[in-house]
Amino acid sequence: MTILPLPAAAPPAFDVAIVGAGPAGAACALALRGSGLRVALLDKARFPRDKVCGDAVPGAALTALARLDPAYRAALGALRPQSPARHSRLVAPSGRSLWLHWKNPSFSSPRLAFDNALLALVRQHTDTEIWEEAAPQALGGQPGAWQLATTLGPLRARLLVGCDGAQSWMRRQLLPAPARPHAGVAVRAYFEHVAGCQEDTTEFFFSRDYLAGYFWLFPVGAGRYNVGLGMLSELVSRHHLDLKKLLHEWVTAHPTLGPRFAQARQLGPTRGFGLPLGGAPGPAAPISGAGFLLCGDAAALIDPLQGHGIDTAVRSGILAAQQVRQACAMGEFGAAALAGYDRAVRQQLGPQLAHSHRLLRLLGTRPWLVNAGVRLAQLPGMRGLVQRLVG
Ligand SMILES: Cc1cc2nc3c(=O)[nH]c(=O)nc-3n(C[C@H](O)[C@H](O)[C@H](O)COP(=O)(O)OP(=O)(O)OC[C@H]3O[C@@H](n4cnc5c(N)ncnc54)[C@H](O)[C@@H]3O)c2cc1C
Repeated sequence: MTILPLPAAAPPAFDVAIVGAGPAGAACALALRGSGLRVALLDKARFPRDKVCGDAVPGAALTALARLDPAYRAALGALRPQSPARHSRLVAPSGRSLWLHWKNPSFSSPRLAFDNALLALVRQHTDTEIWEEAAPQALGGQPGAWQLATTLGPLRARLLVGCDGAQSWMRRQLLPAPARPHAGVAVRAYFEHVAGCQEDTTEFFFSRDYLAGYFWLFPVGAGRYNVGLGMLSELVSRHHLDLKKLLHEWVTAHPTLGPRFAQARQLGPTRGFGLPLGGAPGPAAPISGAGFLLCGDAAALIDPLQGHGIDTAVRSGILAAQQVRQACAMGEFGAAALAGYDRAVRQQLGPQLAHSHRLLRLLGTRPWLVNAGVRLAQLPGMRGLVQRLVG
């Protein structure tokens, strides 16, 4: 950490500076509404900005936001008013399909629009000071009295909340690098004119060669589809896989998908990004410390089986806000005062992440088990059981 030269005028002072205005940062700012705290929300990008993603917004993210204020879910739901995702189709390596039906419908919306709508809620409902195109450059000071130099100018804050995604700058400043990060990698592209899709159905395809991952096809509205492929990073490096090439092979040569993409047109390039996964066994790495908290991808909270992280980003952002309120009320910013956040995340998100990790390890090398699961689910009364297991 560096001692930053003080500018002529005192930099603006905040109780909390949230770095990163994606789902984690925006949810944290929304959950601080009415706290009376001076909140800054910084992002290196100007919104609307794209984020490489499958664009499937899990129902749990919407439920968590609706608990803060039902108006938030209503506003976000308006992005796809006609097409909540009520069903999923899982296609096993054998080619056999399993249909799942969701009680808590979600929806898919390009992150360009979804994240922009979330930030608009922060603007509309809170007194948060939003700094766009403000990338942090250097961190100085100490817990309770941080100084942050950004491309938009310096600021001071008592607490920092790192919500700056998979390649978190904040995490790198504040915590040692994890010994062996447990990660996934995925690519996605947008298509139009894909045949045989239903607007309320997300589709997942599994291959016997790469079970620790899947191909997805998600309708995102206006006749467009988010099409992607993701898997464990260790598998990608072990087999020297080129995921962009593999995605192209799936949409051209896969026995079921090839014909459905015969008339399809790709919109824009295929883009890839990393997924910091949660749920690995062993002692959990800290996600807070003296004067700071990390949320969402910066805290490696993506579900390792399904690859969704918008929900855990939102939920961890809300939990961080609770901890921030408490720390500011007590005037305590030490590691011990903030460790309750780690415990809350472990209690509320840990069991599902650990379950998904175990399931990934079980299914990831056993195509026969995936085929058997899908076959089993066809028997009367068994689909609910399989759905609870994976869902
Ligand atoms: C290919 C792919 C497909 C996925 N599909 C899904 C899916 O369908 N459903 C799902 O739920 N999850 C999915 N995920 C995971 C999901 O994208 C993330 O878990 C989620 O975006 C995490 O939210 P976040 O707010 O923590 O981080 P982000 O959404 O990454 O937001 C971080 C924000 O911080 C900003 N930022 C970054 N660095 C800095 C910096 N140095 N300074 C200031 N600001 C910074 C960024 O501009 C961004 O606005 C997918 C991920 C990938 C890679």
